[in-house]
Amino acid sequence: MPRPAACLFDLDGLLLDTEPCHGEAWRQAALHFGLSLRDGQLLQLRGRRRVDCVTQVQRWIREAGHPVPTAEALLALQQPVARRLLPHAPAMPGARRLVEQCRELDVPMAMVTSSSRASMDLKVAPHGWLESIALRILGDDPALLSGKPAPDPFLLACRRLGVAAAGCWAFEDSPAGARSAVAAGCLVHVLAPEGVGPSAYPAQVRWLRALTEVRLERNESCGEPISTGG
Ligand SMILES: [Mg+2]
Repeated sequence: MPRPAACLFDLDGLLLDTEPCHGEAWRQAALHFGLSLRDGQLLQLRGRRRVDCVTQVQRWIREAGHPVPTAEALLALQQPVARRLLPHAPAMPGARRLVEQCRELDVPMAMVTSSSRASMDLKVAPHGWLESIALRILGDDPALLSGKPAPDPFLLACRRLGVAAAGCWAFEDSPAGARSAVAAGCLVHVLAPEGVGPSAYPAQVRWLRALTEVRLERNESCGEPISTGG
């Protein structure tokens, strides 16, 4: 497999194990309004911007026959739980090594996340190793018209890095994120959540059981292939 022009990393559930925190926050907020969120519904919320999650949860509450809360009312319950849990989220296994290898091999990197600036800051603060990913496409970037699953976030990352999407490797865990990266034209590696099968994802993706399976090679003139172990 040729060396990527750049590696584009999702944040939640890919670099950091934050999805249980987000899931718990949405579960508690929805339950307050009479809706018990199922695992499949939480999977649909993965990878999407806060504004899009709010709209989706409101729709489910309406469909369940309950009075629909405002976005503010939902977030007033969801946000404190998320803010309490997120700073404690650990790295996903192999994430730090993979990012360090990209840096060592001069493979350009970007973080492509639906998180807002404030939320991203909260999550990455304990993880200094993420500072080597300088370019960060955030869910509240003013240049972004649509969030994942639209291709816009990955296309914006490629434009700012000055690379073609077709040469980039995207790393995603969510169906929405994988659809976004496939639509942008990237080669997409999916680190699927436990117990989730391929049916929720585009057919074109490559499956990873762990980030330690990723192999990056030095430029041909630079010598031996490098593996991430595993
Ligand atoms: Mg994700």
